[in-house]
Amino acid sequence: MSITLPQWLDPLPWIHYSKDAEEGQVRQALDAAAPGEKELSTLLSPAARPFIEAMAQRARTLTRRHIGRTIGLYAPLYLSSHCPGGCTYCGFASDRENERHSLSAKEAAHEMAAMSAMKLDEVLLLTGERTPKFDFHHLKPFIEMAARQFDLVGIEVFPMDEAEYRELAGAGCTSVTLYQETYDAAQYDRYHRWGPKKNYLNRIDAPARALSGGLRYVGMGALLGLSDPIYDMLALYRHARYLQKKYWKAGISISFPRIQPQRGDFQPDYMVDDTYLAQIIFAFRIVMPEVQLVLSTRESQAFRDGMAGVGVSKMSVASKTTVGGYSDDAGYEESQFQISDDRDVETFCEMLKSKDLEPVFKNWDTVYRDGAEY
Ligand code: SF4
Repeated sequence: MSITLPQWLDPLPWIHYSKDAEEGQVRQALDAAAPGEKELSTLLSPAARPFIEAMAQRARTLTRRHIGRTIGLYAPLYLSSHCPGGCTYCGFASDRENERHSLSAKEAAHEMAAMSAMKLDEVLLLTGERTPKFDFHHLKPFIEMAARQFDLVGIEVFPMDEAEYRELAGAGCTSVTLYQETYDAAQYDRYHRWGPKKNYLNRIDAPARALSGGLRYVGMGALLGLSDPIYDMLALYRHARYLQKKYWKAGISISFPRIQPQRGDFQPDYMVDDTYLAQIIFAFRIVMPEVQLVLSTRESQAFRDGMAGVGVSKMSVASKTTVGGYSDDAGYEESQFQISDDRDVETFCEMLKSKDLEPVFKNWDTVYRDGAEY
């Protein structure tokens, strides 16, 4: 299938800055007063790798200046492992021989109570793609339930139309997280073998529909390993800037997930090592100093500890990637992918404090929810 990327998204005109970059261009990109695509491409280049320490220092300074010493904390809650999708990299793909589960209302209440007991105030509700076993009408009551206990209720679920997003905003949903996985349309088509997620353009447009529907924040990202990371990171940057221009009140966060071991044993074509992942995060902080940059428990303790406050300003904690993983009465065994950092909230917060960083559980209140219009 051939897809033409919209002009506002296409990263190709900026790729050559990465290929052509030399020491002088990297220095200029580091010192640029208003960095954009050209500087991001340069900072993602092999030529920038020897400058990783200088990039880290700049990223730390900008993080302190624009966001402070705070690290926002959240955790995911898997509602369902039913999925008709055929994503090659996912343990919930429909050709994996897993037992499938969706939480009952009682099980979800226990999960949320367990998360509240950990002091968490931001929850991210996850499902697979839309299926008769778990669709919009199943999702909405869980959002209403979560909104009674948590001030920030995000969803990482199937793309919807604007009217559905509007209904969920009314039910208390504050954010949508929707990774494009890869912006390379040919690779996207290859990895998404079947199912609704195969529709590339529908997914690209979903964050804009969510903001038009009244959600306050969008979480964006690409799954590192699926395609050329420079192409994907440039397109991600362009996508985020497009949304910021069109929805200037909206909050944007950017995540940097890497492929992790999963049932199916998918091996990525484009390995991103720790040093390059750090380079990517520092480059994003330099060109987008005001946005939340997110690092999840997919990554190792050592890497997360090193990145906290040095570009990264928001982190998941004590995460479970199984359906019903937080409470005793559910706890189904199949996970979407393996996590690497399994520290509890208290231990993680102690680490943050030892670095003079402040863990933040609550940075918004439901009293602001009404009247959020974009
Ligand atoms: S990534 Fe999402 S849509 Fe794809 S198989 Fe996994 S749960 Fe389903």
